[in-house]
Amino acid sequence: MEMTDPNSSTNPLCPTEQSLLKPIRSLEDAYRRCQTLGMRLSRQRKYILELLWNVEEHLSAREIYDRLNQQGKEIGHTSVYQNLEALSSQGVIECVERCDGRLYGNISDAHSHVNCLDTRQIMDVHVELPDEIIQQVESRTGVKISEYRIDFYGYRNRESEQ
Ligand SMILES: [Zn+2]
Repeated sequence: MEMTDPNSSTNPLCPTEQSLLKPIRSLEDAYRRCQTLGMRLSRQRKYILELLWNVEEHLSAREIYDRLNQQGKEIGHTSVYQNLEALSSQGVIECVERCDGRLYGNISDAHSHVNCLDTRQIMDVHVELPDEIIQQVESRTGVKISEYRIDFYGYRNRESEQ
């Protein structure tokens, strides 16, 4: 009679494509990602990345253009738009689609947003859901969850209005 080894049925974890790339956690990481992707680090591209990492806000192309020019950094409208498009399509920066236009942020890996309905501001938060919820979603859909993003909405001044 053959004995079955209880340890023989181990499932090796397949690395996803995402995990092959190191997450971007700093401005230097963002520069390095550009180099890894073979993207040229032009002066204008560095200005945009620097700004997004300094302000840690979600800004529109227009706001990025205005702020850079206020800082005395010469960059044209077209250059701002083209660089934002290139950086967001390569996953170096975040692009949030909103009904009134696109906003760009510095973090490109999975994170959640708190949307303030008073100020229209979007704040980044890292929220970890309990395993129980993840398992429920997985068993309901048959999809193994590897990441998630939650959108929270709320008012800052609700109580003072009443
Ligand atoms: Zn964000």
